[in-house]
Amino acid sequence: MAVRGAELIQCIDTYAPPSLAIENDRIGLQIGEPNTIVTGVLVTLDVTEAVVDEAIQKGANWIVAHHAVIYQPLKSIRTDQPAGRMIAKMLRHGINVYIAHTNLDAADDGVNDVLAEKLQLKETKVLIPYGEEKLKKLVVFVPEDHHDKLLQALGEAGAGWIGNYSHCTFNTPGVGTFLPTEGTNPFIGKQGQLEKVKEIRLETVVPERIERQVIDAMLNAHPYEEVAYDVYPLEIKGKDLGFGRVGRLEQPVSLGEFARHVKQAYQLEGLRITGDLQQKVQSVAVLGGSGGRYFMDAKRAGADVYITGDIDYHVAQDALAHGLHVIDPGHHVEHLVVERVCQVLMQKLEKAVPIYASRVNTNPFRFF
Ligand SMILES: [Zn+2]
Repeated sequence: MAVRGAELIQCIDTYAPPSLAIENDRIGLQIGEPNTIVTGVLVTLDVTEAVVDEAIQKGANWIVAHHAVIYQPLKSIRTDQPAGRMIAKMLRHGINVYIAHTNLDAADDGVNDVLAEKLQLKETKVLIPYGEEKLKKLVVFVPEDHHDKLLQALGEAGAGWIGNYSHCTFNTPGVGTFLPTEGTNPFIGKQGQLEKVKEIRLETVVPERIERQVIDAMLNAHPYEEVAYDVYPLEIKGKDLGFGRVGRLEQPVSLGEFARHVKQAYQLEGLRITGDLQQKVQSVAVLGGSGGRYFMDAKRAGADVYITGDIDYHVAQDALAHGLHVIDPGHHVEHLVVERVCQVLMQKLEKAVPIYASRVNTNPFRFF
């Protein structure tokens, strides 16, 4: 079945909710229209003309990018200038561009989680929290013999997480009643006859951002034509959401050894580093993009070393003076999220459209 842009957008927004983006960030649909049928999706860190050519060559009419293609307000679209020429090419070839920027940085399984995961950090927490996950309580009534199936389906859809425990539910037996009227096709009972069925009231917790997918999974797994369920907002605190991650290495290692690990884990040609390479480090903060201005957050979080891109001279000096080592792997390191975005989209779109990770290296810098 054909997938429309709006459906692709919904998948991306569930993964990287726009509500997580910082104010005035340029995210969402920047070129094109949501109603187009998706012929393929090319996922990239940046949109350059080479990336647009790659999309055209692959027959992918949607580009999903981390960095905005239009960041500063446009003053003109001059097709004799690089930016205008690229926009014109995209319009000519019916290419649509969708951006997930700071929302993808903050998202669960987004840029910062991928960067922390590649370094095998343990007990990872959010470095700069600026929100918390909203939670809902889902209550559904299910006949006893379908209880296990429904519980599994809810767990697989992401409901019922409390800390590191999955499939958390509470179940109370009771009796459900219903009277099928004209035009119904009841799973149990007959039209015009009051039914009493032993049912279980199953309750579980659901993060608001995946509410839709959990309810869809519930409706799929439930045998009834009309499913009785309730959704309540909860006042309890969900997990922190925000930029950067801070975690620990299994063992303390020398800064030099750690830098080698970063280089390998992030597949870098080189990196910039401050501090004494013999000193031991264990607590690591990481923030994708340009995070120099947040170095004190890393220090306050107890980090021995802070990894972020675009660190400038004075920030490096200030951090060093505060006893914090910094490693700058380059801003381009964020491209490591591309594979993850592809995996998420493949899973959500159930392979209905081809998803490609861009092969274009958009890093403007080389080591010489
Ligand atoms: Zn960035």
